[in-house]
Amino acid sequence: MTRIENYIGGQFSGAESGDTLPLIDPSINEEYGSIPASGDDDVERAVHAASRAFESWGGSTPTFRSGWLNRLADGIESRLEQFAEAESRDNGKPVSLARTVDIPRAIANFRFFAGAILHDSSDAYTDTPGALNYTLRHPLGVVGCISPWNLPLYLFSWKIAPALAAGNCVVGKPSEVTPLTAYLLAQTCDEIGFPEGVLNIVHGSGPSAGAAIVTHKDVRAISFTGGTATGRVIAKSAGEALKKVSLELGGKNPTIIFADANLDEAIDGAVRAGFSNQGQICLCGSRILIERSIYDEVRDRLVEAVSAIKVGDPLLEDTQMGAIVSEDHLNKIIHHLSIARSEGGVILCGGERVSLEGRCENGFFFSPTLIEGLEASCQTNQEEIFGPVATLLPFDDESKAIQLANSTPYGLAASVWTTNLETAHRVGHELQSGIVWVNCWMPRDLRTPFGGSKDSGMGREGGFHALRFFTESKNITIKTA
Ligand code: NAP
Repeated sequence: MTRIENYIGGQFSGAESGDTLPLIDPSINEEYGSIPASGDDDVERAVHAASRAFESWGGSTPTFRSGWLNRLADGIESRLEQFAEAESRDNGKPVSLARTVDIPRAIANFRFFAGAILHDSSDAYTDTPGALNYTLRHPLGVVGCISPWNLPLYLFSWKIAPALAAGNCVVGKPSEVTPLTAYLLAQTCDEIGFPEGVLNIVHGSGPSAGAAIVTHKDVRAISFTGGTATGRVIAKSAGEALKKVSLELGGKNPTIIFADANLDEAIDGAVRAGFSNQGQICLCGSRILIERSIYDEVRDRLVEAVSAIKVGDPLLEDTQMGAIVSEDHLNKIIHHLSIARSEGGVILCGGERVSLEGRCENGFFFSPTLIEGLEASCQTNQEEIFGPVATLLPFDDESKAIQLANSTPYGLAASVWTTNLETAHRVGHELQSGIVWVNCWMPRDLRTPFGGSKDSGMGREGGFHALRFFTESKNITIKTA
């Protein structure tokens, strides 16, 4: 059994209460360990350790911090396979995906911010009559980083890396459902002698450990990625305490296929966008909008491609879709399918729990699902399902496509498939979405702003946007004449 511990002030320990929560492997539905059920006392210790560490880390040079982030990246890279297997076991995702996407991208996050902080600079205003203005950016102090279960290490590192690079000390909480790679990260810190207290990782449930971080008076900012409902709770609490808050929340993203698109690429892109990571990526294209003149052809080709996705044991190399992250989440997806049926949706493929044979016979698997025949305004097309489920909707012209795309409370990401550059520009401009991809889905440049509008969030991560979030500006004016 794996016994995960908190990492506070460079030391490993259980929760003060001694309480634990079970760790479940979703691909076999078996408990394989425990995490500390941390609460106020544990977060108090972590914030204290972080505050003490900030006395030196906060005043250290960018070069010093950059060096440590690079060593952390090296440490993860040297154990890449162990991290990938842990991520697959914890989350149910194919190990091949964890090995090629999750863990390499987590390493890249640390390396990117190790470099970015060396290229950051302050602004100076040298043409003010009689005065010189320059703006300093100070780290905030102790910051909280709270991340979800879908891309566990990848999204945890996307917050921790800029926070540390900017000179803050972190109290982080991964999802209680997928804590294993955060624990391996703590072990890596320990191995390389990472300065004590600079990164503290507290495990436990959201309402207990997570809320304790959010409400702690000495935590100066909260960077949160997760569901919109949780984001509202955090925003309210952080707002009352006047804390900085960055919220990366849910999505109900459109994939828009115009009749002039390269259909081979569009169909491949729509399938990847809809079903990667079991459809459990905030950026997944869960509504596929198709120009009516090509609707039947695209629908039939999508059904063929989606039906061919191989659902299987996440540890097998040829598995394309692994397990849903938990039984609760599987039941949520099943519930959404019953809503879709009651709304008159036609299930074109999938729509059911999958039973595998052998090692994974008790695991939480769901068949990749396409649904048509639903109104854009129905619950299925408005609410985030966060599973391997996508709906198909026809549109007659560009303005209708834009209207459908913008018709949900969310505004995170969209992909547009067309060979007409003017269409791409016009539609890209009109979409209420923080991220728009044209003829692609999910390539990333770590310098670009990442985040959503409307119910998909507040603020932007990525590059200097993240470094700005984790710092406080101070302007100094000096009389010169
Ligand atoms: P979630 O339930 O909101 O949880 C996210 C994190 O918040 C977890 O660590 C959770 O802990 C913690 N938490 C829960 N309640 C809390 C509270 N009251 N105070 C402080 N922390 C609390 O989300 P999830 O189910 O893990 O993740 C799926 C959601 O994340 C989807 O909606 C998805 O779209 C969104 N997401 C968004 C992005 C983006 O960049 N926009 C990226 C990935 C995922 P426990 O797990 O221990 O409860």
